[in-house]
Amino acid sequence: ERQHQESLFLVNEFAKQFYQEQMFETDRGKSVALSYFKQRGFREEVIKKFGLGYAPAGKDTFTLTAVQKGYNADLLKQLGLTSQYWRDFFRDRVMFPIHNLSGKVIGFGGRILVKDVKAPKYVNTPETEVYNKSKVLYGAFHAKQAIRKRDECILVEGYTDVISLHQADVKNVVASSGTSLTVGQIGLIKRYTENIKILYDGDKAGVKAALRGLGLVLEQGLNVKIVLLPDGEDPDSYVQSVGTDAFRNYIDQEAKDFIMFQAGLLQEEAAGDPVKLSKLIQEIVESISKIPDPIKRSLYVRECANLMGVDEQLLVNEANKAVEARL
Ligand code: ATP
Ligand code: MN
Ligand code: MN
Ligand code: MN
Repeated sequence: ERQHQESLFLVNEFAKQFYQEQMFETDRGKSVALSYFKQRGFREEVIKKFGLGYAPAGKDTFTLTAVQKGYNADLLKQLGLTSQYWRDFFRDRVMFPIHNLSGKVIGFGGRILVKDVKAPKYVNTPETEVYNKSKVLYGAFHAKQAIRKRDECILVEGYTDVISLHQADVKNVVASSGTSLTVGQIGLIKRYTENIKILYDGDKAGVKAALRGLGLVLEQGLNVKIVLLPDGEDPDSYVQSVGTDAFRNYIDQEAKDFIMFQAGLLQEEAAGDPVKLSKLIQEIVESISKIPDPIKRSLYVRECANLMGVDEQLLVNEANKAVEARL
């Protein structure tokens, strides 16, 4: 079992090196992939640190090379690197290796180079013995020390957000890779810190994704802050346009406590409509009731009552009911 896992890691490591060679040492790799990353503002140092590469366009270039070098064809398939009929799974994409906490390669994300209406922008390794999407946070290996040191984890949506921020010296960053947070991912974060700052894209999808993960994060007892980026920006584009200092200032100033963020958002929606307003109060109470620490809970109740202009005792009662319903 253990041995089997080690051989899977070995094959993935070979694949990572293959994709890197394709990018740094072939004409096409240099002209389409390396130049793509450089145009996006990624410097060679960070490109190498994260092991970025290029999967060639041919239908089976990778698979043939691997088999020729003696790698077991079954393992290639088990790892999702090779598909049916010995076709390469990743073709003509820039490659982001995904590492576990000890730095072993467990899978890959591949990004298309040119916009295409038919093909998805990103494809990822399917679930394998070593890649379980719900337990992975992209960048965790490179971020763990900084997370511990700063006692805070910044959560972003995408691979490129992690890399850009890292390059800009904001290193306590991991990505959920477009899915909403899972208990397994929260468990990873909790090994290093209880403080999490969610920095999702400044678009509707980003706000929605952030709210979707909220309940779970609160239940796990983490302190959550949220930062909304300016419309149309993501952490990558934003840090590249304003630079490190302005970026840090922005997130420090804009970070809102999650419960208060939700309250503000819902209040805007409900403006002056008593039916909506009472529904919104139920939603907030629901969120607050998920916080395990009773002292934190009561502090939130007070703040929310103030913010929404409702009687504090009323909110206390509602919150107590919700907590009991949960027990
Ligand atoms: P880029 O800057 O290269 O466009 P991004 O990370 O900003 O990348 P988003 O569209 O914001 O891209 O998506 C965020 C993350 O969601 C991606 O990094 C990727 O992990 C995941 N993702 C996006 N599109 C897809 C897709 N079609 N299939 C699977 N995962 C996806
Ligand atoms: Mn987005
Ligand atoms: Mn982006
Ligand atoms: Mn994005």
